Amino acid sequence: MYKRSSALFTEAKKYIPGGVNSPVRAFNAVGGDPIFIKEAKGAYLYDEDGNELIDYINSWGPMILGHAYPPVVNAVIERTKKGTSFGTPTEIETEIAKLAVEMVPGIDQIRMVNSGTEACMSAVRLARGFTKKDKIIKFAGCYHGHSDSFLIQAGSGAVTFGSPNSPGVTQGTAKDTLLATYNDLGSVEALINANKNEIACIILEPVAGNMGCIPPQEGFLEGLRSLCDHNNILLIFDEVMTGFRLSAGGVQERKNISADIVTFGKVIGGGLPVGAFAARQEIMNHLAPLGSVYQAGTLSGNPLAMSAGLAMLQSLKNDPEVFKRLDEKTEYLRDGLVKVLEKNNIDFTINQYGSMLSVHFSNEPVVDFDSAALGNNDYFKRFFHGMLKEGVYIAPSAFETWFITDALTYADLDKTIAAADSVTANW
Ligand SMILES: *Cc1c(COP(=O)(O)O)cnc(C)c1O
Repeated sequence: MYKRSSALFTEAKKYIPGGVNSPVRAFNAVGGDPIFIKEAKGAYLYDEDGNELIDYINSWGPMILGHAYPPVVNAVIERTKKGTSFGTPTEIETEIAKLAVEMVPGIDQIRMVNSGTEACMSAVRLARGFTKKDKIIKFAGCYHGHSDSFLIQAGSGAVTFGSPNSPGVTQGTAKDTLLATYNDLGSVEALINANKNEIACIILEPVAGNMGCIPPQEGFLEGLRSLCDHNNILLIFDEVMTGFRLSAGGVQERKNISADIVTFGKVIGGGLPVGAFAARQEIMNHLAPLGSVYQAGTLSGNPLAMSAGLAMLQSLKNDPEVFKRLDEKTEYLRDGLVKVLEKNNIDFTINQYGSMLSVHFSNEPVVDFDSAALGNNDYFKRFFHGMLKEGVYIAPSAFETWFITDALTYADLDKTIAAADSVTANW
């Protein structure tokens, strides 16, 4: 069934470490060989063996309107004919920046980079430069890319591989990253009190998606906002996953809370490598060439990537109902899954917020990293491989979120629910 994928993986492993260019693509957490995808259209992936799969990874988020979405594809084709990068300013950079500033509350300016990692790394440097303080607070299980300061209890990828703290991160770097517990304001307050006037910023996924989907509890984001305001600390919302997904303005809009710096990635690139960070003028003034906090990129804002991102943001902006449709589809899927898992007497918790959903094989409420880690991974493995056999592709780790795309039809959702039913019927 996956003969050609397995052969391709054997060949890939000779030349690429572990055969993959990003570790979560390997099937280490679930066993077996990863599947090589040949092409994709709408909600479906087509692999090298000719299998058709309903896709709940969607490139880990960007494909919110489905694969090979025509406005994005056409924009990229047209742009490519005129040259893909010049290393000079181009008009399209201003177009996408203007549109992003219109869509996202509370930001005056935005800087484009090439990945979410770069965006978060730069946002923290900017926060340190602005506040003239060194330490940062992050939350166990939140992922902000693979730069050194963040590889302390970094969620999905890192956790899946059983090494929460990566070798190669120096103690000097690690000591400036303080670790708090998600949804636990007390843990944040304690760190602030123990490190008076040393903390530059608090960075978090305002709806977590890298330890499964974990929404903020009532008052959590408000409490962080107020702690930041009282202690001269900048609040950074890492909206790499949630930005342009949970609403046009991300979690800031949905929860009506403003962060000081916001980071983006995934959807903002329409499937090309793009990240971005944004803030109000007073903060962005500190960034080179306006200010002295340095940040740069040869391919940053290249017209090819910008054409994809612009087409994506325009499509979302011109279809204000899209976020409501996505929510409704995800709620339908959630309700369907709840029904069959209950019927089959499975211990589970499903978390869902907007078009993000995760299934945890545990009875306990999943509100932070420790409770996410209680899930039964043997059940998850069986579920993953069972779903795959039924033609449904979910992320190969219990710590990953399902991303719902608008290309999914209700028939696709019904098929997914039926697959979950038959997979868990005889456990
Ligand atoms: C994916 C992700 C990142 C890292 O983005 P890359 O483009 O993979 O570097 C950072 N933060 C969050 C919340 C993410 O989901």
